[in-house]
Parts: sequence; structure tokens; C-alpha cells
Amino acid sequence: MDADLARAWVAAVATSVTEHAAELTDLDAAIGDGDHGVNLRRGFDAVVVALAGFEADTAGAVLTKTGTTLVSKVGGASGPLYGSLFRALGKSLPGEVDAVAFGDGLRAGLDAIVRLGKAAPGDKTMVDALTPAVDAFAAAAPAGFAAAARAASAAAAEGATATTPLQARKGRASYLGERSAGHQDPGATSTALVFAALAAVADA
Ligand code: ADP
Ligand code: MG
Ligand code: MG
Repeated sequence: MDADLARAWVAAVATSVTEHAAELTDLDAAIGDGDHGVNLRRGFDAVVVALAGFEADTAGAVLTKTGTTLVSKVGGASGPLYGSLFRALGKSLPGEVDAVAFGDGLRAGLDAIVRLGKAAPGDKTMVDALTPAVDAFAAAAPAGFAAAARAASAAAAEGATATTPLQARKGRASYLGERSAGHQDPGATSTALVFAALAAVADA
């Protein structure tokens, strides 16, 4: 991944979040406060503006800027969490980024989210989509970047679907207790969009 591919990825996430804003907000209305689509849209719109005026030669610089912008522009839980993911990913990337280095960066991003949010797999959060995505990316990295991104996207989508029967143990949805079961987690759903966007730009 180079700086142009990083920019294309973030732009594709912004487009996807806009297209799916209503769906994300509906999911969050069921088990949270109904703002997840709005939060991410505001955040990634701000990222697109910030990156337009930002000169960067490396994917790492682009993704670090993405993370710091998300942290500063999104009020909800998802802003600091996604911000930490992109910032840790960006900071961990070397100048030249192959699939293995990117997989290591994703692992650093997952670690940052877990450090901040303390969620474990099965707690019905974005971690339930991110963990299998990071594992799948690393496992498929020897087959190349595009193959790894496709594997990660499929794993994230599966992880998001698998949150439906779970009872939330972190975030606002946990306040509902047993009533949180039966709804797909909004953050896991948006994480699947993030990896679908990565697979799309990597294949282009
Ligand atoms: P808020 O809950 O502050 O309104 P959002 O609606 O934007 O923020 O994001 C909600 C999503 O954030 C949840 O669906 C869940 O995936 C994720 N989330 C919440 N708390 C945590 C946490 N502690 N660790 C990981 N993810 C979390
Ligand atoms: Mg919310
Ligand atoms: Mg909120």
C-alpha cells in the first residue's frame, strides 16, 4: 500500500459510510442511541477534507492523519476507537508497505482498540468483526495484498453477522442487558464496511 492507495481506501470508506448511514443509524437506534451512521459520516467527511489539504508521501502518514482527525471530530465511542485503530495502523507502517507489514499494522490497530475499549471477542462490539478480519488478513498475506484484503473483508462480514444473537457487554448496548440480543452490532457492521472498502480498492 502506498499513499495513493491509502487515500483511495479512506475515500471509499467515506463513500460507503454515507451510503450506509441510515442502516448504521437504524442498527444503533435498536440497541444504542441512534447516532452511529451520523457519527461516522461526520468523521469521515472531516477526514476527506483534512486529507485534501494534507501532503503525504506514505500510507502511514495518510492513515495517521485519518486517525487523529477521527479522534478530534467524532464525539461518540466510535470516534476514539476508530481513531485509535487508524492512528496505530499508520504509525506502525514502514515507508514501503507490503501485505505482511500491513497485516502487522492492522494487529497494532486492533491492540489499540482493545487497550482503549477493553472489549473482548464476544462482547458484541466492533472487535467481533475486527479480530477475525485481522487474523484472516495475516493468514492470507503471503498470497498478496488484494487476496488478504478479500479474506479480511469476508471474515469481517461474518464476524458482524455473528454479533446478532450476542448480549452486549461493552458500550451503550450493554445497558440493555438481554434485550441487546437479536440485533446486529452497529460498530461491527461499520467495521465490515471498512474492510469491504479495502478489498474494493485493493482489487481496482
Ligand atoms: P456511542 O455509543 O457513543 O453513541 P457510536 O454509536 O458511534 O457511539 O458507536 C457504537 C459502537 O461502538 C458499538 O456498536 C460498538 O461496536 C462500539 N463500541 C462501543 N463501546 C466499545 C468498546 N468498549 N470497545 C469496542 N467497541 C465499542
Ligand atoms: Mg451511538
Ligand atoms: Mg452517541
